[in-house]
Amino acid sequence: MGATGTVTAHPDLTGVGARTPVVRRTWTIAPESRRDGTIVPLLTGIFGFPWRTATLDAKCAIVERDHGSVGGRTRMVDRHHRVVPDPDCTCGIYATADVDARPAALVVRTRPVASGFVALSGRILRAGTTLRAQRAAIVGPLAIDLGRPPLAAVALMRTPRPPHPLRVTIEAGAFKVLWGWGTDRTGDWLAATAAALADRYGLEVTRP
Ligand SMILES: [Zn+2]
Repeated sequence: MGATGTVTAHPDLTGVGARTPVVRRTWTIAPESRRDGTIVPLLTGIFGFPWRTATLDAKCAIVERDHGSVGGRTRMVDRHHRVVPDPDCTCGIYATADVDARPAALVVRTRPVASGFVALSGRILRAGTTLRAQRAAIVGPLAIDLGRPPLAAVALMRTPRPPHPLRVTIEAGAFKVLWGWGTDRTGDWLAATAAALADRYGLEVTRP
């Protein structure tokens, strides 16, 4: 557990007022291709930002066009701040102080997800239940699941025979969960992904 060993990932123990608040976060699980041709699971932010390790230092990636430049050419102005997150920007690592938040509510349908807790440090800005931090470290356990059904399946979820996840494929560089009726073949993917994520991030990973 390294530097986060003394932080317990339970919402009752550390709150938003703490120096290192432990709050909830959700990731999309994405396939990362290795040079040797293997594919390993990677946690990414909702907009695809990769978490290659369990700790992340936020950078500001906002670049603005400066329309006041000379000679009619658009100049790209680097707006990187000295300290991230900046109150007037959208940068930083996002997390929610709402421990009852539906973890997958913002994640793209049919993408497998992981939810768990992050210990935030450095500069932390709060707006409502949304937190933006300079640094974050994932603290276990991490729970993985197969995410939300496709829109076409939502209306069928309350029927006597609702569709369920069948298997996980890779489509356009993303994991995609196929839903329908028939034999559930997601078990192998879930077991392999839980083991690979536990190994990569040094955390306990639970699966449905
Ligand atoms: Zn910024």
